[in-house]
Amino acid sequence: MKNALSDPEILAFTRLIEEREDLKVTHPLRYLFWEATLRCNLECRHCGSDCTRDNQSKPREISSELMKKELVDISKHYPADQITFVIIGGEPLVREDIIDVGAFSAELGYYWGITTNGMLLDRKNVSALKEAKLKTISVHQGRALGSLSCCRCLGLHCRTIECLNLRLPQP
Ligand code: SF4
Repeated sequence: MKNALSDPEILAFTRLIEEREDLKVTHPLRYLFWEATLRCNLECRHCGSDCTRDNQSKPREISSELMKKELVDISKHYPADQITFVIIGGEPLVREDIIDVGAFSAELGYYWGITTNGMLLDRKNVSALKEAKLKTISVHQGRALGSLSCCRCLGLHCRTIECLNLRLPQP
C-alpha cells in the first residue's frame, strides 16, 4: 500500500498551493492535526491508526523542536488565532514533551487540543494541560488487550468517565 507522497508529487502539490493563493480565502486553514506518535498504551481492534504498544515507531516521530519550528513557520503565513492545533496519536500523552509543544502553540496564539484514550490523564496531567492553556480535549474509549469487545470493557469505560470527571468543576 502506498502511504506517502513521492518528492515529485510533493513538489507538484506545493506549486499548486503557491499558484492558488485564492485557496487561502476559499479554504482557510482552520485545523492543523499532528499525529505525534503511533505508540499507544492500548491496542484496540477498531483503531484507525497503526498503533503499537512497543517503541518501534518512536524513531520516526517528529521531534518537539521540529514541530515547534513548523508551528512558527505556519503562523507566519496563517493567523494562528484562527487555527485549532490538535495533537493526536496513538496516545499523545505517552510522549513527555507533548504538553510543552501545546503550551508553545498557545503562546503563538493557536487554539490547541488533544485526543486521548484518557488512561494517562491524572490530576497532575490535567492541571499541567490547563496550565498549558489546553482549549479542547477529546477522550475516546479504547479496548484493553484480551477484552471480548469494546462495549463490554467496563473498566475502560469507567476510566473514561473518571477522566471526564477530572475536568468537571468540584461541587
Ligand atoms: S486507544 Fe485509541 S489510539 Fe490507542 S489503540 Fe485504541 S483507538 Fe488506537
